[in-house]
Amino acid sequence: MKKVFRTLKPYFVGEKLVFLIGILSLILVDSFQLFIPRVIKRGVDELSLGRATTSLMLKLGFFIMLLTVGIIIMRFLWRYLIIGISRRMERRLRQAFYKHLLTLSPGWYADYKVGNLMALATNDLDAVRMMVGIGIVATFDSGFLMITSLAMMILINPLLTLYVIIPLPILSIIVGYFGKILHRRFKLVQESFASLTDRVRETISGIQVVKNYARQDFETERFKGMSTDYVSKNIKMIIVGGMFDPLIGLVIGFSFALVLMWGGKNVILASMSMGDFVAFNSYLGILIWPMIAVGWVINLYQRGKASLDRITEVFEQEPDIADSPDAIEISDIAGRIEFKNLTFRYKPDLPDILTDINFKIEPGEFVGITGRTGSGKTTLISLIPHLHDTPTETIFIDDIDICKTKLASLRSQIGLVPQDSFLFSTTLLENIKFGNFDIDDEKALQAATVAQLDKDVRDFPDGYDTVIGERGVMLSGGQKQRLSIARAIILDPPILILDDALSAVDTETEEAILEKLQEIRKGKTTIIISHRISALQTTQKIIVLENGKIIEMGNHNELLTRKGYYSELYTMQQIQSELNSENEHI
Ligand code: ATP
Ligand code: MG
Repeated sequence: MKKVFRTLKPYFVGEKLVFLIGILSLILVDSFQLFIPRVIKRGVDELSLGRATTSLMLKLGFFIMLLTVGIIIMRFLWRYLIIGISRRMERRLRQAFYKHLLTLSPGWYADYKVGNLMALATNDLDAVRMMVGIGIVATFDSGFLMITSLAMMILINPLLTLYVIIPLPILSIIVGYFGKILHRRFKLVQESFASLTDRVRETISGIQVVKNYARQDFETERFKGMSTDYVSKNIKMIIVGGMFDPLIGLVIGFSFALVLMWGGKNVILASMSMGDFVAFNSYLGILIWPMIAVGWVINLYQRGKASLDRITEVFEQEPDIADSPDAIEISDIAGRIEFKNLTFRYKPDLPDILTDINFKIEPGEFVGITGRTGSGKTTLISLIPHLHDTPTETIFIDDIDICKTKLASLRSQIGLVPQDSFLFSTTLLENIKFGNFDIDDEKALQAATVAQLDKDVRDFPDGYDTVIGERGVMLSGGQKQRLSIARAIILDPPILILDDALSAVDTETEEAILEKLQEIRKGKTTIIISHRISALQTTQKIIVLENGKIIEMGNHNELLTRKGYYSELYTMQQIQSELNSENEHI
């Protein structure tokens, strides 16, 4: 318990006074509630002794009304205050959780399912909130009510109290035991539902593939199996849930029967007044809730703690690339890049992907990288913004080891257009401005023009305000690529890297984009990865990778004379384009 509250303490700051007022209102509600049976007792006693007057009854009735109004106001107050605290705590915790998730590196996400993270951010956070909100309230409420109502009952008749409370602990046990089973089955239901929705989501996102392979019937059958499973798990839960209420009713019924038998006898023997008998029944009614609450609160607490442990586990994950304490801020860099004897693998137990990489790119150079698929091009450039962890003293930006720079500042200097860029389901304009929403629309349009996207957009129904659908489904492959290029160049970063970002556009458009790029990137370092000679030949330096090693380096003409991979690629693409143009003539 202590550990739980130590973990959650930071999320409760500034709530002390609200909490105290809330608990005070709760105790007032309970006290008013305990007072009502005393008023009824007075009335019944006066009635049974024949001393009652209508004005006394009126007064007593009015008093009960007053107490009830007090209860309603105070109950509203404590709920508003204490549930409010738990909701605010949940918000702070969720915020911190999300913030933490965004610090973790892409490598960590490869091992963690999105569904699990969603469950943590929803179900588990709910369980923690229930523990601290309702859990605390129920603990105070039931503790106070249990002690006071028992005291009142003992005051009326100690022996009778002893008899009737014997079955009551059974209530706590039933609630605790059944609650546990119920929760276990409820979790199975939830898991089943999660896999059902996951399936639907994936099938619908991949609807093209499903249709192309004519797998509708197969998917329908599979879905049928999963929904049957969901229903049967629900029924298993209903069986336990259905037994729960009748059992509770049985125990409560027993207690009241005992009061009627023993208490009734006492009244007949005149050792107990009629009023006491009625009041005793009312106190027993009040006592039932705390007895139920004991089992309930224990479950709430166990569930909340288990959820909190799961959340804490993620909180304890440290990003594998983090700023060292003496990391330095870099800005307005010239754009020099140097790799020194770099050998890299993704994980210790995986083979080397890059070996012995050495090269230098001077500020303002236009550099091409090429090589067979899988040769390590994407891996190489992803190391420049430090997306994966590398040994120290291997990669330098403006002669500073990237391991010694602040990550955010390093990345702010580099624009990277990945091979398969992610687009958000908002408008074109918002996608272009993703890197900085403060940028003028004017600049966004310029970037779109450089990326040769502008003429396509003119045909869209809402122009730049067109919503492009989930992951940009409404755009063609080439349009997506050009949008990603516009997103990167709008920031005008000192280093710009295009990872095969023109593969889906035709050579003419590619040429137009490259020409514009050369113009706007004058004096700034630009790296272009491509399989096409047409994109590489105008660059000042070309790096050729093979199996993670640099096998050739030089400008277009130098590499042609070397008669290696590059010149082979050139010859092949020459033949290809000649064939194409001959076909056009036929
Ligand atoms: P392409 O031209 O097809 O884009 P590439 O030259 O960009 O290829 P990389 O993506 O750098 O090649 O991949 C190089 C090697 O690294 C491949 O063998 C690939 O399987 C491996 N690899 C890539 N990403 C990871 C990763 N996250 N974890 C482990 N291995 C990876
Ligand atoms: Mg690649």
